[in-house]
Amino acid sequence: MAKRVESPSSINTFKQCKRKYYHQYIEKLPTLPNIHQVRGNIAHSTLEHFYNIEVSDWTKENFSQKVQLTIQQLFLHQWKAYEKKLKDLHLNPDQEKFYFEETMMMLMNWANHFTGELNERLLKNGTSLPEAFMELTPIREQEFSSDNYSVHGFIDAIKHLEDEVHIIDYKTNSSFEIKDSIKLQLAIYSLLYHEKHGKLPSKVGIFFLRHKLKMINVDEDLLNLAKREVELIHAHTSITEDKQDYPRNITPLCKWSTGKCDFYDTCKPHGEKKR
Ligand code: SF4
Repeated sequence: MAKRVESPSSINTFKQCKRKYYHQYIEKLPTLPNIHQVRGNIAHSTLEHFYNIEVSDWTKENFSQKVQLTIQQLFLHQWKAYEKKLKDLHLNPDQEKFYFEETMMMLMNWANHFTGELNERLLKNGTSLPEAFMELTPIREQEFSSDNYSVHGFIDAIKHLEDEVHIIDYKTNSSFEIKDSIKLQLAIYSLLYHEKHGKLPSKVGIFFLRHKLKMINVDEDLLNLAKREVELIHAHTSITEDKQDYPRNITPLCKWSTGKCDFYDTCKPHGEKKR
């Protein structure tokens, strides 16, 4: 059986519950959209487009307001662009207002962070505003794909800062923690970057949009973690596609107070519902 092309998210799904992996990636059952994914996409698109804007009329006096205003306008535009997807979620007006305001607040938090970075650059050696903006502009949404490892992924932002390369992913998570699944995602990005460019990125991390940027150093241990997990999943998924080889892992992630696994009704981890 040919090796499947995995991604950080398929590998993390496999580690969380093999049955879930089976339903999603082998059986290819549809997943249910949810507000967390949709507003995550809106926030990502806002930040991706931010760096395309024209900054020729920005000055040292007005750039702080310009950053805030631009983010607000882009966010409104993206929220509108996702109108149909938001409608399909059947949120009530209060819920929609809540998620709109919360996402706006996260993006304003990011805007403050960016303003600080821009200011630091401007204070350095008399850099001009367009130069400083250009220096902080990352490569966005780049796809990395490896035939060798049979893995691919999209990296939100790659920043070149002097002689360092930083790989950054944006997250709207409430927790400010590089948990194991995030560490593995970052490890895989490091592996893919290393294979393509022949050198390690200096740091990888997450911009937690509710909080701030959190980075970790990249070393051989991180690469080995990625290699090990990639090998483990291929060793399993390239020899069997039988459902019974993908057992359920029943945990609180099957059903929680405000939601459930996309495949809960198919999987029935807690048995049939009594009528
Ligand atoms: S409901 Fe639970 S056991 Fe079933 S696929 Fe989802 S996570 Fe796995």
